[in-house]
Amino acid sequence: MADPLPLPALHATHAGIWIAAADGPEGAGIREVGRGEAIARAAETPHVVLNAPLVGQRLGYPELSGLDLLELFAFIHPARFAVPTAAGMSRALGLEPPASEAESAPALQRIAERLLATLSDPDWAEREGAWTSNQSLARMGWGWAQLVGARLARPDGGERMLFSRLPQWEESADRPPPRAVSIDPSDAQDKLDQLTGAHSEARGGQRAMAAAVASVFAPKRQKDCPNLLLAEAGTGIGKTLAYLAPASLWASAAGGTVWVSTFTKALQRQLDAEGARLFADPQERARRIVVRKGRENYLCLLNLEDALQGAFAGRAAVLAQLVGRWAAYSKDGDMVGGDLPGWLPSLFRRAGATALTDRRGECVYAGCPHYRRCFIERAERASREADLVIANHALVMVNAARARERAPTRILFDEGHHLFDAADSTFAITFGGQEAIEMRRWIVGPEGRSRGRRRGLAARLMDVASYDEESGRALEAAIEAVRALPSDGWGQRLVEGAPFGPVEALLAEVRGTVYARSKAQEAGYGLETELAEPDGALVSRSAEAMQALEGLVKPLAALARRLEAVLEDAPDWLDAQARARVEGAINGLTWRRETLAGWVALLGRIGGEADPDFVDWLAVERVEGRELDVAIHRRWLDPTKPLAAAVIGPADGVLATSATLRGGGGWESAEARTGAAHLALPAGRFEAESPFDYGQASEVLIVTDVRQNDPAALAGAYARLIEAAEGGTLGLFTAIQRLRAVHSRIADRLARAGLPLLAQHVDPIDAGTLVDIFRDDPRASLLGTDALRDGVDVPGESLRLVVMERVPWPRPTVLHAARRMAGGGSGYDDRVVRARLAQAFGRLIRRTSDRGVFVILSAAMPSRLLSAFPAGVRISRVPLDQAIARVEEMLSRSVVQGGGEPIAKRDQPVDVD
Ligand code: SF4
Repeated sequence: MADPLPLPALHATHAGIWIAAADGPEGAGIREVGRGEAIARAAETPHVVLNAPLVGQRLGYPELSGLDLLELFAFIHPARFAVPTAAGMSRALGLEPPASEAESAPALQRIAERLLATLSDPDWAEREGAWTSNQSLARMGWGWAQLVGARLARPDGGERMLFSRLPQWEESADRPPPRAVSIDPSDAQDKLDQLTGAHSEARGGQRAMAAAVASVFAPKRQKDCPNLLLAEAGTGIGKTLAYLAPASLWASAAGGTVWVSTFTKALQRQLDAEGARLFADPQERARRIVVRKGRENYLCLLNLEDALQGAFAGRAAVLAQLVGRWAAYSKDGDMVGGDLPGWLPSLFRRAGATALTDRRGECVYAGCPHYRRCFIERAERASREADLVIANHALVMVNAARARERAPTRILFDEGHHLFDAADSTFAITFGGQEAIEMRRWIVGPEGRSRGRRRGLAARLMDVASYDEESGRALEAAIEAVRALPSDGWGQRLVEGAPFGPVEALLAEVRGTVYARSKAQEAGYGLETELAEPDGALVSRSAEAMQALEGLVKPLAALARRLEAVLEDAPDWLDAQARARVEGAINGLTWRRETLAGWVALLGRIGGEADPDFVDWLAVERVEGRELDVAIHRRWLDPTKPLAAAVIGPADGVLATSATLRGGGGWESAEARTGAAHLALPAGRFEAESPFDYGQASEVLIVTDVRQNDPAALAGAYARLIEAAEGGTLGLFTAIQRLRAVHSRIADRLARAGLPLLAQHVDPIDAGTLVDIFRDDPRASLLGTDALRDGVDVPGESLRLVVMERVPWPRPTVLHAARRMAGGGSGYDDRVVRARLAQAFGRLIRRTSDRGVFVILSAAMPSRLLSAFPAGVRISRVPLDQAIARVEEMLSRSVVQGGGEPIAKRDQPVDVD
């Protein structure tokens, strides 16, 4: 017998709190209540809520628990997309969205009813596994378990285990190398016409680009010099299809794979969706187009099994069950930006979600019972046979640099303006407590409290070590040597001045130096200081730590050599599984030895000559006053050097494209930012202007009378602008503290006017989901920092105003100071700011019909930087009142025509300060 419905529901926003009673007639039972009453009611009886952490935050009662609809949705429809709001959930379930905040409370009840009714629907597609999972959830005290259990029929004959329901991948022979074929530019254009079905005249820039990109696929002319094309294609050209057209032709003619690489997950998703134009049949599409990401994005089935079998407790165990439900229906097991709802991990305050991925590189490969069903291995194998692999810059670079897989021969880098940053992270070296303890764990396994079935290298190679004496000796020596690295509790020991072992002793010295020399840039956050003029103690501790690291390099090298010998002259007992496990260990050893070599080189420099290619510094990483890591950092002064040497040079054909590839500068700037400057042959250049009439569609307003360093004035300006635009505003900040200060002052006021305000670093929701909510509600506004400047693709009405609080100057870090000095001083800063302004402006107009205003709340905006904006855009310096009037005018007319005198225009900038 099912429990009676409806249940009481609680809806809380910045505008108010509403409760819908359990028993009243629809609508009649809705009451607006105060915080105190809402907390008391929720503590007394579990209420239906949507996003309990968010509701808890609104009530000022973080312990709030209730019947969270998001958890129920994730259980009933795993791997299905829904915007996590009352309106979004209603739409996802075919219900009428609520018309007001007050009506959201009964809407939550209707959503609950619809979801629970699904459980008895014979056509429910995600039934398999639900009964078993609910049994486990009931034992964990999951709030919904009883209501679900009462409606879920026990399946006849039991259910298959999750792990046996997942498909297995098949091993196949290596694909032959691609044939040397060229793509005729006119064939590329024909293919494009076929994909777009559009008239060619209307898409001149796109057709020209398809023809130009064909050159990338010609056979390579000279060693270490690929056919490299730099293409700046303005927003709206349709560059995705312009490069996919020649790429798909080449892939099928040459029998090769083209890697398309992006920086943001949003573009990766968009590209995956474009695949439908190339291959209409979903099965063929799945075979020919494969999405790849770094290992740390995917669910590790071994970790999941551990979690399901008791390694996780409390709320984390509930999350593991919901992730288990999802795993059975997921397209590819991608937990970060794939089909796992981005909001799911944040309901559990991140507990456990990261522990389910393979973040630490602890994979045991063929030693894993789920190896043949592993999502990571499946994606890797599928990509070998695919026409197109959609990856990200980091993965392409790591694979090429570490030679982990067969290196891609044709690479199309979209969002090419991020190549510099991606290379900067990929080729960075960090030697600190966190990294060192990971190395130790990889070799000896988890110490102290048991952490599931993870094993260190020693346990994984036990059979080889007992068979081959030399391997055994090398392994023992490595275990002995790695004990010189930090162990659990190292951070506390550093704080207490009681480091243990040579590496902790060095880190204690690093920490002392940082605290002595650095200036706190933001109270409670990271501290750093240049690695220059080290004192005697730091030099001697470095020498001792270096010796300890060298003591580890030797046995690891000996072990790798012996393992290779064992594979060559394999004993009878070494079956295919054991062989693959040994191969996995050799790969892991190669990677760790490279890491160790980087650390040794870094420590060797302390007290010696600085290497002009690198920037080195010492840092204490802190968040809100809590120390997370102490480390020595090394970055390339110009990371495009290793990018050119390890990734671009060895490829046969490379495209780097972006709407802002030159970042507001000349082609030299694009060459410097992509690595083209380090190749022997010049890169080809292509340019197509955006088809948008930016002058008609947009304008830039620089507000002259908002006082800097006055949070109240800044907040007032934001509120008035958002009210004038009636929402649809993206607010960009250069500091989290100012973002929070503005949000706390205006969120309630705006909400009462029916204008919801979302904020990164405030709302307990991931950035991707915040953008989904923003896109879904044209009256919503969103405040955020760096990531939103570039990763937001919100075409249409939902985004009509961008407000930047300050000129986005680079943060004055050690690394920035070095690059600034090498890059021409203030000219370098100007290039960085122009690129950032161009990226931020790029959020505003995404398609021909879009209209919008870009506001900068800083009179200090130098006119020389205004060249960042597209030609023809009206740029005016105005007081706030006038800016508000212009925004209102834009909204009332839908077309920006400008109501006053333009003070500066992009093609004729005039300084009017
Ligand atoms: S093969 Fe590795 S990543 Fe895959 S499930 Fe097993 S341990 Fe996890």
